Amino acid sequence: MDNSTNNYRARSRMLDVIRKSAPVTRPALAKETRLTSAAVGLHVASLLDEGLIEEVGYGESIGGRMPVKIDIARKSNCTLGVALHDGELLGNVADFGDHSLFMRRERMRPRDTRQQILDSLDQIVEQALGLIAKHQLRQRHCVVAISGHLDAQTGRIIDSVHFPKLNNFDVREHLLKQFNLQCEAVYVTHAVFCGVLEGDMRNEHVGLISWNTGVGWTQARGENLQFTNANPGVRRISHLKIRPDGGRACHCGRSGCLESELGGLAILQRLAETGEAKYAHLDLPGLAALAQAADPTVVEMLSGCARELGQHLAPAVFLSGAKYLRIETCLGLDHAVLVRNLKQGLAQCMHADQIDALDIAVVPDADAALLKGVCRLARGIFFDGGMIRRLREEM
Ligand SMILES: [Zn+2]
Repeated sequence: MDNSTNNYRARSRMLDVIRKSAPVTRPALAKETRLTSAAVGLHVASLLDEGLIEEVGYGESIGGRMPVKIDIARKSNCTLGVALHDGELLGNVADFGDHSLFMRRERMRPRDTRQQILDSLDQIVEQALGLIAKHQLRQRHCVVAISGHLDAQTGRIIDSVHFPKLNNFDVREHLLKQFNLQCEAVYVTHAVFCGVLEGDMRNEHVGLISWNTGVGWTQARGENLQFTNANPGVRRISHLKIRPDGGRACHCGRSGCLESELGGLAILQRLAETGEAKYAHLDLPGLAALAQAADPTVVEMLSGCARELGQHLAPAVFLSGAKYLRIETCLGLDHAVLVRNLKQGLAQCMHADQIDALDIAVVPDADAALLKGVCRLARGIFFDGGMIRRLREEM
């Protein structure tokens, strides 16, 4: 192992301790990291120089001078998060203390060309970078959350349900070329998930159902996403075949998938097929509005789909050992009705006491969770280089 590797590891270890036990003194850092006081002194000096940490007061004196306490510089460092999700493009800048400093959203229309989508993306990034420069913040990393997957070999987007026009597009290369911006692309559900994790949930098994245009499932123990290639069944649950005898054509090339049967687009199709004029040209916001206005046909259809969703996701929920189950949806079904119907579906494969033990709730503001999540992921990637590799493997 050469010196630079050793240095890098010592520095990461220190940053980790500061993040977890801040504010912390130099002697405490030396004790926690088992580095010499001289090494700690050098690293602290260079991290102060880079503006990544700051001195925030004094610790207790152990005879002599009072030691200075150190913390991550939470207000002057920030991350940039962008999400392309369900007809919307969202941009957010958050500081290291999780405060949102900039937020912008743009509606994407199905008829938009790829160039129009990219222009909006560039505009949002440009505005965000402008704000970062104006406030003299240090921008540490950028994460773009996309629906669909990344091809591990080429880094290009594949299988995007919401923005098929972006398929075969390399978002990393684009932002590097356009803005000289280091970025990672992650799956939208990952980002929502990371935004949802709060408090006690951070150490427990948690499952997240995303029910929007398509259907997504993410599970994790704390912040360790169990969503990897090693477990392709979990990764591809959206394309679980639930209609053995055919079903609706899916964008994955097959038919009768969980997503193509129960996703928002399938529900729009089914409503259009009723022949009623008011359902003929609905989009997802229109569907949500009807659900909220308690349109009987819409509520009945969504309730039925929620039950079926519960039934097909029950094995994943059970096997994940989830203590918390969160549902993120833009379809407008009343939260109590949604949870009740999901439970009925789960009950077909799980015992009543197993379902009772689950803490089930709807994510109240999925956009906010998504934006918080992309910035948290960006920060995680910045602090922990290994996370980049893990995320790439997952996608
Ligand atoms: Zn499919």
